[in-house]
Amino acid sequence: MELSKINGFGESTRKLFSEIGIETVEQFLEYYPYRYEFLSPSPILQHDEKVIQVINVVIESDAQVSYIRRNFNRLRFHAKFQNQLLKVSIFNRAFLKPNLKVGKEITLIGKYQEKTNQFIANDIKVNAILIPKIIPIYHLMKGIKNANIEKWMKTAITLPITIYDRIPLAFQELYQFIPKLEALKFLHFPKNAEEIKSAKLRFIYEELFEFMFQVLFLKETETSSNGLKRKFNKQLVYDFIDSLPFSLTHDQLEAIQDGLQDLESDKRMNRLLLGDVGSGKTIVASILMYANVLSGYQSVMMAPTEILATQHYLSLLKLFDHFSLHVELFVGSMKQSEKKKVLEKIETGQVDIVIGTHALLNDHVNFFNLGFVVTDEQHRFGVNQRKNLQNKGYRSDVLYLSATPIPRTYALTIYGDMDTSVIKTKPKGRKEIITQVKKESELKEVLKHVYEEIKNGHQIYVVAPLIEEGEMDELKDINLLKEKFTLAFRDKFKMDILHGKMKSKEKENVMKSFEIGETKLLISTTVIEVGVDVKNATMMIIFNAERFGLATLHQLRGRVGRNDLQSYCYLISNQDIERLHVLEESNDGFYISEKDFELRGQGDLFGVQQSGDMSFHLADLKRDYKILLQAKKDASSYLKSKDYLNSDYYLALTSKINFTN
Ligand code: ADP
Ligand code: MG
Repeated sequence: MELSKINGFGESTRKLFSEIGIETVEQFLEYYPYRYEFLSPSPILQHDEKVIQVINVVIESDAQVSYIRRNFNRLRFHAKFQNQLLKVSIFNRAFLKPNLKVGKEITLIGKYQEKTNQFIANDIKVNAILIPKIIPIYHLMKGIKNANIEKWMKTAITLPITIYDRIPLAFQELYQFIPKLEALKFLHFPKNAEEIKSAKLRFIYEELFEFMFQVLFLKETETSSNGLKRKFNKQLVYDFIDSLPFSLTHDQLEAIQDGLQDLESDKRMNRLLLGDVGSGKTIVASILMYANVLSGYQSVMMAPTEILATQHYLSLLKLFDHFSLHVELFVGSMKQSEKKKVLEKIETGQVDIVIGTHALLNDHVNFFNLGFVVTDEQHRFGVNQRKNLQNKGYRSDVLYLSATPIPRTYALTIYGDMDTSVIKTKPKGRKEIITQVKKESELKEVLKHVYEEIKNGHQIYVVAPLIEEGEMDELKDINLLKEKFTLAFRDKFKMDILHGKMKSKEKENVMKSFEIGETKLLISTTVIEVGVDVKNATMMIIFNAERFGLATLHQLRGRVGRNDLQSYCYLISNQDIERLHVLEESNDGFYISEKDFELRGQGDLFGVQQSGDMSFHLADLKRDYKILLQAKKDASSYLKSKDYLNSDYYLALTSKINFTN
């Protein structure tokens, strides 16, 4: 059901939600609170400055607003708690002023400072809370308040929605889970902590069951039928390897051997190629794509972003320059006429290798004879999407590339049934990236270093976490950063910015200029997180580093150190956060992920963009590991029973209904 069916859900709100992949009322209901506030007004005022307390007060004076800086204001007034007059202050709530009338009873949430007799609120409920209440807290977006979301949820749940329960009936009964609709109500409007707990358990199991079922299903359908048994001249493959400007590492060669064997045998390839950032997975995939072409079939490679797809395309053009292969790019932003031309060539077999994005999944994309499917950064895609691409071929072989730095235990549980090749070592001559955590007050030092690197002919990435000016003062918006760097360096060298909201053509131009070394310093959002490869870049500076998880930081850092030049990474953060120092210690993705798991659970294992297989809403691989194991067992027996053939599961898996979102 469309979101517009929710009262008060305007066009601009719809757009905001659409950007995070929420298009329907059903999906909106899966926008769960990330925490709850348990509010019950206290009858006494505690004098411990550290305690957050909830008190009901009566307003005694008109509220005054003072503007401290841009985007930063303070609201102050007097209020009476029982018989005690308090000074109350709260930051960035100037908009509440009209609601704060003398004599009104309100609820304050915050801390009391006895010394100054001041109550520093971090939230105010303009209507006093009289009975204990649980407030769901949602992640907010620009211009949307928590109260808005609460209101929309209340409407959404009353609409005639189609709720699709992904737990098969037998397991719903076995574990006596509460019905899904009820569980949704419990999560969004809980009456007590037990309701939240039982609802969560149900959803966590559901997420993990669905996920494991898909993994197992995919594996079974892929390997149950025979694959293509091909013949190709292996010598040509070795000649190609000899033509490379570098020699492959032992692990790369081994992965290639694994892949070649799969291609030659009539067993269907279903292989995961795991390797840390910068370990050289692309070249392995390219060589296998070449072998597949030699055997007379088309190859395709799907990447999660246009920037990455374009880059792969350009490097493949170069790689196969002397090997008379026809390589084409297919991405969403291409002109209609261009697309048509490429599609025709793909369909008539004039193209040997296609590189593209999700756009490849479109129904209009038909291959002449697809034999080999590579998915780069596989964890960024949903199982359906990968399956969909494979279905465009006939018994095609598949290879997944992933740097997913997932601790080994979890990787084995999840992917244990797949064939895996691992690249453990980086190409020869790579140096550890020297990493340092710095406070913003130490920026001068960093800037000096920036200038040295540029004078030495190298290039630099700067990463800012937000695209637009943040509401929070400290966030370094990309334009502010540009001003800052321009101020520091004037026009001594060329700088540029790159972010997700730019048009594809613009992005492409910016990337091109950086690739050819014209642009020396590139200020960017995390759009460069995945896969971008510019060898001459030797420094990565990440602002507000505390806002990122270790996995993302490691990915970002992996943009430098891509040849034998010494590279550097600065993590700028004013907060003293222990986990950031893990990156100073190590350049090893697996070690870092172990630490990340230790320190904060699953964290943001899969990057900023929460899409793809493992972007669970509620489940956490570490915390819920036992549930994962059970879900895997259940999913496996469900698959064996073949009961799914008579259920919506089958429809979902054959992509007739949208299942993953
Ligand atoms: P990732 O595994 O992160 O996808 P890439 O495939 O992008 O890494 O490889 C990183 C860089 O290393 C690329 O520029 C690639 O050309 C280069 N490279 C790959 N293998 C080797 C090698 N054996 N020796 C030297 N450079 C290599
Ligand atoms: Mg890569």
